[in-house]
Amino acid sequence: MPNFSMYEIIDKKKRGKTLTKAEIDWVIDGLMKKKVPDYQMTALLMAIYIKGMTTEETANLTDAMLYSGKVMTFEGKNVVDKHSTGGIGDKASFILAPIAAACGVKVPMIAGRGLGFTGGTVDKIESVKGFKTSLSLSEFEKLLNTKGIVLIGQTKDIAPADGIIYALRDVTATIDSIPLITASIMSKKLAEGANGIVMDIKTGSGAFMGSHKDAVKLAHSILGTAKRFGKDSVALITNMDQPLGNAVGNSLEMIESVEVLKGRGPKDITELSIALAARMIHIGGVEKTYSKALKKAKSSVEDGSALKKFKEMIKNQGGDTSFIDDYSKLPVAKHTTEVLSPKDGWVKSYKNDEIGLLATELGGGRKVKSDKIDFGVGFIFHKNIGDKVAKGESIFTIYHNKNQTKIVSQITDRFFKDVIKFSKTKVETPKTIHEVIELKDIKA
Ligand code: URA
Repeated sequence: MPNFSMYEIIDKKKRGKTLTKAEIDWVIDGLMKKKVPDYQMTALLMAIYIKGMTTEETANLTDAMLYSGKVMTFEGKNVVDKHSTGGIGDKASFILAPIAAACGVKVPMIAGRGLGFTGGTVDKIESVKGFKTSLSLSEFEKLLNTKGIVLIGQTKDIAPADGIIYALRDVTATIDSIPLITASIMSKKLAEGANGIVMDIKTGSGAFMGSHKDAVKLAHSILGTAKRFGKDSVALITNMDQPLGNAVGNSLEMIESVEVLKGRGPKDITELSIALAARMIHIGGVEKTYSKALKKAKSSVEDGSALKKFKEMIKNQGGDTSFIDDYSKLPVAKHTTEVLSPKDGWVKSYKNDEIGLLATELGGGRKVKSDKIDFGVGFIFHKNIGDKVAKGESIFTIYHNKNQTKIVSQITDRFFKDVIKFSKTKVETPKTIHEVIELKDIKA
């Protein structure tokens, strides 16, 4: 490997010049071997954040991060995963994975923990007693090949460079960068061996990409990278201006996921999970058209086969399945407080990232890496944007512990001060899915 100077590479990027593949490979190799120190890496990340990267540089960075660890391969177009850029109340993975698997897709899912104001799939499923989220890659492979569905947490074997870079970005305000998000997501997705990738790109006040324009740019960047690596892919731009579904909080979200699989879930999370699963069924080649795939996904909920797959997935990974028929088996907090509307009107908006932070304050997420999560606490929302609300009506219920009365009243105060806005006139209900971008729409 040629020898470069980190100083010169940072300086080059600072001036907005394009890094070569050899330079990018050298940086990632040096980072893995601890020859590139954190302070120089963070300077480079900030330069990338400010000056951006070309499509080719982004693909080269993805490639270098992808090969920093093991790269798995699976046979078959029907091996498809979904990835979301993260949000509040997003439990879609627990619903779409069994739907897609019940319809003949193989789903190798490597999910994340909570990050910043967003909740994490791995934290949520760990509220199920016994469920193992850390399996070896050979166990992961075996479950995928024999059962067609597996969900684990990030492992050090898969794209380890992303783990290092992500931790640096998290504390240096360099998360919301399109090339860095693209390389982070795609290096992991390509390494886990999926042949098709469905992207759920969130936009709104509870998303890393606040504006629709930036979400579309990220979709083009991710799909452009997928295309270069020969992977079929599609991106949905979806609403994150309010929690997805009604539940926010680990156990509460598991219960809501089961409700969706039983056909009784809230409209938005049901619509989104079925649409994402249908995209997986379509790009996985199980159905030739999206409309047939959508029909198939819906039938798997109606005939109970998706719920059966969900139960199988929990059992395959050592989890106690009894909560599916008896929600009291999950650790849900025993105390509840209703948060009542102070006026008549319509819900105009929520500051959704704040809702995520309030859930963290209650103990549902981590403030620092070492924090222990309280699986039982959380919120159930009764009002969406566009809903009419009367004075004294409950907007949401807080699930908390006995000793949390002070924090509950602080949450209520912050909610009315910083989170909710009311309107005196009727407000339109936002759409759940704003736009679908397919590989054929990508020029690169
Ligand atoms: N999710 C990821 O995996 N990486 C990012 O950079 C952002 C969201």
